[in-house]
Amino acid sequence: MTSHAQETNVREFERAWMEEAIGLATDSVKNGGGPFGALVAGDDEVVAVGNNQVTATLDPVAHAEVSAMRAACKKLDTFSLEGYVLITSCEPCPMCLSAALWARVDRVVYSADRHDAAVAGFDDRKFYDLFEKKPESMWPVSVEQLDLPNRTAPFDTWLAKPDRVDY
Ligand SMILES: [Zn+2]
Repeated sequence: MTSHAQETNVREFERAWMEEAIGLATDSVKNGGGPFGALVAGDDEVVAVGNNQVTATLDPVAHAEVSAMRAACKKLDTFSLEGYVLITSCEPCPMCLSAALWARVDRVVYSADRHDAAVAGFDDRKFYDLFEKKPESMWPVSVEQLDLPNRTAPFDTWLAKPDRVDY
């Protein structure tokens, strides 16, 4: 197999995983959580999933990415996610990016970005600005956008939910 074909396979897996993360985020809204979903995957399978549970569990750090990484570590009985990829429906906030670094994931892939989140009322851009990113070349982990056509579906569901608890 050529390296190009391998790369294509990786992208195909990531595309399927991203669809799953977006589905998790949309289901999260229906189940009383925030419109964010994430999962940790390795090789060709999903290890653990997570959704935003900030208001549901009164936990300001219960972001989807943190929830997914905690669940993955528990399942794998380890504190290191080296060799694994974090797939998240939305661009990770500075806290989740930091957590991904500490967890030593190989790669972070997101779909919606901070501007999509701001449209839905999640305007954390001032936090991103505080932690202004160093050049990509300095990062030990690749953080990449996979822009799917339905990337804002969780936010659309969120905005359409009349009894949502804004936070
Ligand atoms: Zn976060």
